[in-house]
Amino acid sequence: MTEKQLMLIIIVLSFMYGAMTGSFFNMLAYRLKNRLSVLTPTRSFCDHCGRVISFIDLIPVFGYVLRRGKSSCCGQSINPVYPAIELFTGVVCAFTIPAMLRGLL
Ligand SMILES: [Zn+2]
Repeated sequence: MTEKQLMLIIIVLSFMYGAMTGSFFNMLAYRLKNRLSVLTPTRSFCDHCGRVISFIDLIPVFGYVLRRGKSSCCGQSINPVYPAIELFTGVVCAFTIPAMLRGLL
């Protein structure tokens, strides 16, 4: 494996880590704003009908794009702020984590 291939893998993994962190921030913001427990329920649920979200829909950014911004359970629109935050934190991590690792490697 070349150094370029290794760096590409690190960038992709950093983006995924950042997007998942953004998804977690979305969950925290929603539940704290609505005075809900952060611990229960353990699975994410639809803002509109309350049903548990499927595994595919939980994948940050990809789930939103796949469903074209509509909830798979009830067809209601998903707030575009959620994937925007996931994308933003993913891009920030894709730039910062490899840069920090370059100093260590
Ligand atoms: Zn729903």
